[in-house]
Amino acid sequence: MEKQEWGFKENHELHAAASFTIRNILEAIMGNIDETATGKPMIHLGHGDPSVYPCFKPSPVLEEALVQSIQSTQFNGYPAGVGIIPARRAIAEYLTRDLPYELTADDVFLTAGANHAIEVVLTFLSRPGANILFPRPNYPIYEARARFSPLEVRHFDLLPEKGWEVDLDGVKALADENTVAIVLINPGNPCGNVFTIDHMRKIAELARELRILVIADEVYAHQVFGQKPFIPMGVFGDIAPVVTLGSLSKRWIIPGWRFGWIAITDPNGILRKTGLAETIKSTLVIAADPPTVIQGAIPYIMKNTPDSFFLNINKILKGASDMFYERLKEIPFVACPHKPEGSMFAMVKLKLEAFADVADDTDFCMKLAKEESMILFPGYAVGMKNWVRVSFAAEPNVLQDAIVRLKAFCLRHAKQQ
Ligand SMILES: *Cc1c(COP(=O)(O)O)cnc(C)c1O
Repeated sequence: MEKQEWGFKENHELHAAASFTIRNILEAIMGNIDETATGKPMIHLGHGDPSVYPCFKPSPVLEEALVQSIQSTQFNGYPAGVGIIPARRAIAEYLTRDLPYELTADDVFLTAGANHAIEVVLTFLSRPGANILFPRPNYPIYEARARFSPLEVRHFDLLPEKGWEVDLDGVKALADENTVAIVLINPGNPCGNVFTIDHMRKIAELARELRILVIADEVYAHQVFGQKPFIPMGVFGDIAPVVTLGSLSKRWIIPGWRFGWIAITDPNGILRKTGLAETIKSTLVIAADPPTVIQGAIPYIMKNTPDSFFLNINKILKGASDMFYERLKEIPFVACPHKPEGSMFAMVKLKLEAFADVADDTDFCMKLAKEESMILFPGYAVGMKNWVRVSFAAEPNVLQDAIVRLKAFCLRHAKQQ
């Protein structure tokens, strides 16, 4: 019999997942911008990519590293499935600097950025009937990706009144015998918080008690500028096994290079014994790889990026966060309950009842884009309705301008007394 219709068709489940990603949501908001009508150049505080600003320009070491890698002609071939050894070793050495254990190349697997690492993690943990614990608010790719996994997602809260600490009792109440892992993002996206060492130990002890893996998303590792130091979760790998996700994107400010990693800190060998270490390897062998030329540049980058580069970036972020947090107090109907201490984000709460004609966080972001050519990220998409996420990683004068526009917008939309 001849088929009447094409065998392929539109996938609505995929649309639904994609509509949840930062890129898609920002695209919708961006559609509302008309710089000619407002006479204002666009200010984009909707995502964490400051690579467009001159003050965040990357270290020249990166360019040298890539040029050397290309000129060597050694990195034109296919890499091994989990990455080339010198690059894995360089990442292992880099991570070991902050750990009481020594990681080797065998503990590190390379990915095309941390987003890819998230996809890999959700693949190797997947089995029907299992569940995974995500923070609320969360980084949206976890939610979007989990829709394609048989894993059931359960959310525990981060508590704004406690500096966005994990609600440990909530975690305990959510977990059961089918829970496989808990995801933590520290320094935090979207909250800009940093966990204390005591809190992290408690999380590790709870993971041990619940017999679950700790997935530590540390793409903002070392990007801290408050009172608390950055401590990698891997420090507690002897309490419960830790799988760390890392990336060049945020600390080196080159998200376009698409290079990240998955590292295992498991001094008791639990992942080896349970076979999960082999499962991770198998997942990566059948996944995409980061480009070999980028892998070839990694040892040079890890060895030669000067501390002064990172210190300067943290100094800029601290200045931006201080200024943003202080000046936000001038603006009515918005509040930031916790001063950012790391990453490049702050969560800001909208006092919706004070606005005359703002229905919710999406409406706020859409109108702000239209009237002020300014982009913020609606909180519903990170799990916090009627909040907005602000990236303060921008040039100081841009951020000052953003404050002025935000204030004008809030005053213009205030309910008349
Ligand atoms: C930006 C970000 C990622 C993705 O990083 P890439 O390496 O660019 O893919 C993952 N997790 C969090 C929390 C992020 O903010």
